[in-house]
Amino acid sequence: MECIFCKIFKKEINTKIIFEDDLTISFEDLNPVAPFHILIIPKKHIDSVNEINENNSIYIKQIFENIPKIVLKFNLKDYRIVSNIGPSAGQSVMHMHFHILGNRKMNWPPG
Ligand code: AMP
Ligand code: ZN
Repeated sequence: MECIFCKIFKKEINTKIIFEDDLTISFEDLNPVAPFHILIIPKKHIDSVNEINENNSIYIKQIFENIPKIVLKFNLKDYRIVSNIGPSAGQSVMHMHFHILGNRKMNWPPG
């Protein structure tokens, strides 16, 4: 069975799309934990950052080239990028994703 984020990038599930290119898609998080909360994912199933290697790191390159464009579009100066890797770190969807959180004060260390 396909994962939920694969369904999102194949447009089998509707989301509020923020930005999209050939390799990545960014959309609003369904349960935002900050006033600005979007996710950016590869258009390929990769379980997590832990599965990145020399054959698929193009997705990481593209994601991190897109983040500054996205935050500029939303005039976000200070923000946080989070990727939870593994269930005990808080990963609930096993398709690599980066949360972009902003428009509120962030605490450190995170919980
Ligand atoms: P994580 O818990 O780090 O794996 O993050 C998964 C995120 O995906 C959570 O913040 C969820 O709110 C979000 N999420 C799950 N399903 C959807 C969906 N259908 N559309 C948008 N965001 C979703
Ligand atoms: Zn997937």
